[in-house]
Amino acid sequence: THKTDMNIFSQLESEVRSYVRSFPTVFTKAKGHKMWDESGKEYIDFFSGAGALNYGHNDPLMKEKLVEYILSDGITHSLDMATAPKAVFLEEFNNTILKPRDMNYKVMFPGPTGANTVESALKLARKVTGRTDIISFTNGFHGMTIGALSVTGNSFKRKGAGIPLTNTVTMPFDNFVSDELDTLEYLERFLDDGGSGVAIPAAIILETVQGEGGINAARYEWLRKVEDICRRWDILLIVDDVQAGVGRTGTFFSFEKAGIKPDIICLSKSISGYGTPFALTLIKPEYDIWAPGEHNGTFRGNNHAFVTATAALSYWKDGSLEQKIERQSERIFSFLNGLVEKYPELEGEVRGRGFMAGICSPKEGLAGEIAAEAFSRGLIMETAGPSDEVFKLFPALTISDEGLEEGLRILEASIESSVK
Ligand code: PMP
Repeated sequence: THKTDMNIFSQLESEVRSYVRSFPTVFTKAKGHKMWDESGKEYIDFFSGAGALNYGHNDPLMKEKLVEYILSDGITHSLDMATAPKAVFLEEFNNTILKPRDMNYKVMFPGPTGANTVESALKLARKVTGRTDIISFTNGFHGMTIGALSVTGNSFKRKGAGIPLTNTVTMPFDNFVSDELDTLEYLERFLDDGGSGVAIPAAIILETVQGEGGINAARYEWLRKVEDICRRWDILLIVDDVQAGVGRTGTFFSFEKAGIKPDIICLSKSISGYGTPFALTLIKPEYDIWAPGEHNGTFRGNNHAFVTATAALSYWKDGSLEQKIERQSERIFSFLNGLVEKYPELEGEVRGRGFMAGICSPKEGLAGEIAAEAFSRGLIMETAGPSDEVFKLFPALTISDEGLEEGLRILEASIESSVK
């Protein structure tokens, strides 16, 4: 077997601007919730491509459909041309996802990435309202293009770019100050202040559970209050469901149980199912005022992504995936609560919803140490939060009970050895 010289991936020694910091090995193969490196070592994947692989690696049905399509010389790239996979996807997405949820939205293909859908949403909200300001939240994450970065509440990622640009305002996310303080009332006082506070924005953009920001789950009540403010002030509500969507929190859209109806919804990461780059912007029909050609991108509407995304929708036909997530999620959270009790050295706080779980430890560097220890023991986990103080559990939604237990067992062993 091939043995790679790791210096090729080193920040200091290589010309390649791609660094291996958290997971120092060369991966060769992946299936379901498992990955293997070139030495043959097996890993349980609790990272899932940062939420881009919700159905695990190389899902058999998606693989079969994709291979079949490629072997038939199906069209790969077609921009806005009509193709069969595109038509089938639109029909299936409407029938399986939108209609049963009583959701009436137009589907736009803004380009292949999460940042692409966020940019399209911000631009459209400005065009619809004729206003320019956007309100976003502390520790929110929306992408690395300048517009998306401007509404991202992470100073490390923003400051080199000279952000803030004008016209973006960051407000405290739910629980950012304390459970009791009504920061939305504070926001509304600003809006009501007639100009000396915050100008009426075009949109408010939020994640219902902040992923990169540290697995901060907004309460449903808080989300309903945000929606209410948007309705009363004629502000568009944009939900960025790039990471929390496609089942990650237990329902297809992360906001379903809150009962809100965003004006614009951003989807990417797991929407193609197979890790193929793909994004959607869902727009309430009355706001679909784009002129033809006003917003485009070369790689929007990739047919391989349509093929796998259509196959992925088969998971959403009968409610069984939702039930599985709910059952296993209870197990995850009771296990994490147990860990926090058993290891008081963590000073841990359990966070999240569904299959979007984490433990925050205020002890400097500890979450990272635990993730590094887990990696050496064969469990892949990422850290999140402004100081990487949260370790993040993102198993595939399709993981078996045995796979989940094995991952949790390695996690506990890693914590035990790290807190000593
Ligand atoms: N929004 C959210 C909530 C995200 O988590 C991310 C990526 N982590 C993005 C947007 C940006 O997606 P991309 O990296 O594909 O541009």
